[in-house]
Amino acid sequence: MSLHPYVVHDGEPQEVAVLVFAHTAQEARKVGFDALTGFDCSEWIDVRAKRLRKHEGYLMGFRQSDEPHCIESMPVCPRCEKWGAPPVGDGCANCEGES
Ligand SMILES: [Zn+2]
Repeated sequence: MSLHPYVVHDGEPQEVAVLVFAHTAQEARKVGFDALTGFDCSEWIDVRAKRLRKHEGYLMGFRQSDEPHCIESMPVCPRCEKWGAPPVGDGCANCEGES
């Protein structure tokens, strides 16, 4: 089984989100929860993991190991202040063209 990119966040409203590489959503949630508790804002019951399929190739470039792990400091888009999409022009693939 190979690793897939997941976003793990602290529920709604979403305050903190980390990128986790894991085999399953359940595993991602566990790995991400350990990272989120460092931000002191998350309860296990609120923590959610969602597989990121849209920019999977781009996100896989941040993988650091073959074991499940978390990337806490992703480069953030200067326009929409989110991570997860490849840079395009002065923004990213998610916000390009939006005002
Ligand atoms: Zn953007």
